[in-house]
Amino acid sequence: MNTENCVHPPAYVSAKRQDRCIVPHCGKSLPPRRRRYCSNECAIWWPNNHYWTMAAGAAMKHNREVNSIAVKLKSWNGHEFERIIACCSRCHKPPLGEYEEGVTHREALDSRLEIDHIIPLNGSARSTTCLNHQENLRVVCHKCHLELTREQRKSGLIGRKT
Ligand SMILES: [Zn+2]
Ligand SMILES: [Zn+2]
Ligand SMILES: [Zn+2]
Repeated sequence: MNTENCVHPPAYVSAKRQDRCIVPHCGKSLPPRRRRYCSNECAIWWPNNHYWTMAAGAAMKHNREVNSIAVKLKSWNGHEFERIIACCSRCHKPPLGEYEEGVTHREALDSRLEIDHIIPLNGSARSTTCLNHQENLRVVCHKCHLELTREQRKSGLIGRKT
């Protein structure tokens, strides 16, 4: 994970106009009237890769774009319509209960989508951290999340403090 130039939230970057976009992988020269970022995309890059709530939202949005299925549903008056449902990126199953009937509460909870840190937080605060980089996040169902955490614990990624 590339965390170079990432340590300081943009708020700490001097208020004076920068010469180049401060997003590490960008560095384009700034168009007139831009002070830190070359574009709106770059302006959202830092929060989307560090602040948990923003990063989680961005990860969910991305997963929805790449891991969705279309399901046919029937409305109350028998009219059929299609809905796009985001799936787990590991087992590729959609959350149950979103559209199926007769799903138990347990099944619904197990299939609920959550976000897993590939390099685990391991007890560190998640509100603002480079561990929230998009490449370190994956959207998985609760069941897969538990299995992944178990694997991480087995391989020593979780639990060992250095
Ligand atoms: Zn940029
Ligand atoms: Zn899963
Ligand atoms: Zn970072």
